[in-house]
Amino acid sequence: RQETFDAIVIGAGAAGLMTALTAGQRGRRVLVLDHNDEPGRKILISGGGRCNFTNLHTMPDRFLSQNRHFARSALARYKPADFLALVEKHRIAWHEKTLGQLFCDGSARQILEMLLDECDNGDVTIRLSETVRDVQFSGHFTVETDTHTLTARSLVLATGGLSIPKLGATGFAHRLARQFGVPLVPPAPGLVPLQANIEDLEWMPALSGVSLPVRVQNGRTAFEEAMLFTHKGLSGPAILQISSFWKPGQSIRIDLLPDKDAFETLRDARTGRSRAHAVAILAELMPRRLAEVLGPRLLGGKAAGEWPDKMLRAAAETLKNWQFSPSGTEGYAKAEVTTGGVDTKALSSRTMASTTLPQLYFVGEAVDVTGWLGGYNFQWAWASGHAAGTALSE
Ligand code: FAD
Repeated sequence: RQETFDAIVIGAGAAGLMTALTAGQRGRRVLVLDHNDEPGRKILISGGGRCNFTNLHTMPDRFLSQNRHFARSALARYKPADFLALVEKHRIAWHEKTLGQLFCDGSARQILEMLLDECDNGDVTIRLSETVRDVQFSGHFTVETDTHTLTARSLVLATGGLSIPKLGATGFAHRLARQFGVPLVPPAPGLVPLQANIEDLEWMPALSGVSLPVRVQNGRTAFEEAMLFTHKGLSGPAILQISSFWKPGQSIRIDLLPDKDAFETLRDARTGRSRAHAVAILAELMPRRLAEVLGPRLLGGKAAGEWPDKMLRAAAETLKNWQFSPSGTEGYAKAEVTTGGVDTKALSSRTMASTTLPQLYFVGEAVDVTGWLGGYNFQWAWASGHAAGTALSE
């Protein structure tokens, strides 16, 4: 069966639905296709089921991209307050957690239902369980699915990144970019746990479940948040954040006592608590299980009064400046996002359209714009979708 639309959006996730509702409500005839049997699967599991749908501190510097100015235009034209106005219009209760992160009080499903409702207001057609077989362009796009031949003036790729294949993630946007000569920045897992190397695996898994506040640093990028030991390596917000900046072969610096001068603290213990042992002293500064592992490794078995200067200095250096060399990440199966993607060089920052083929748009995570942890990735999905949806109706 052949059908014609003004725009076809491939991908019924956050960015695709926002693009569709924006263009639909401005009078465009929009079709959304998804190969999953339900829309917005990632929205449903996001934020632990409560969807961290935006961040009040959204600024271009909270995003990674080869062109750090690219996101500025879309983010300036669709702000957290705009999305919040939509949330309030739908009477969805929300709260601010920490660091400007906004969550639903109830369930992430409310966000998805809100988007579907708004799509409905724009007479958007959504077809699920559709496999796209082929896309061709000759003045307009022809999209062949298993069941339909669809044509449209414009095509929007909103199929996201490679993270969590079991939720339906594919490299479809990247494949289409290649087909139409749009360059890619090599994708990699982002916001992902880091795996310990063989040496560290001898002692770290025993700490699985231990969490503490740290400062992590990779080059000039640093985050102060919680870190979690896992049975494979390290995770927790601090590690997820820094993982997006990490490249294979690099080490990251971890300060296990971010609020303390470790050398002074240990030296004071040596004079003030000379009969105490390392574990007791460290347990006052960090979780006991970590103190039990680090105490003997860093400060031996003797009482504090007998700690030589050299050992004390080396221990303080490790506590403040642990050089952790991951063997890798836990990969796309565990990554919250994909860094890299469609190269922003080839896109208009105002419309998200390809500069060489202006009827072809890329939005959301498929594009080389990756937010920090904390609602930034959805804000990018909303903002880039809004930019494309507006452009489609101009
Ligand atoms: P997606 O939401 O991934 O949507 C892409 C859509 O395209 C999907 O519906 C998919 O089925 C479809 N698709 C893929 N390939 C094809 C194909 N070949 N044919 C047809 N359809 C296809 N970000 C936040 O800001 N806050 C959070 O709280 C948060 N929590 C997260 C929790 C988890 C566990 C994960 C994995 C991610 C989380 N993120 C969060 C990141 C956020 O979910 C993504 O950045 C965001 O969903 C990207 O939106 P998108 O529309 O670009 O892609």
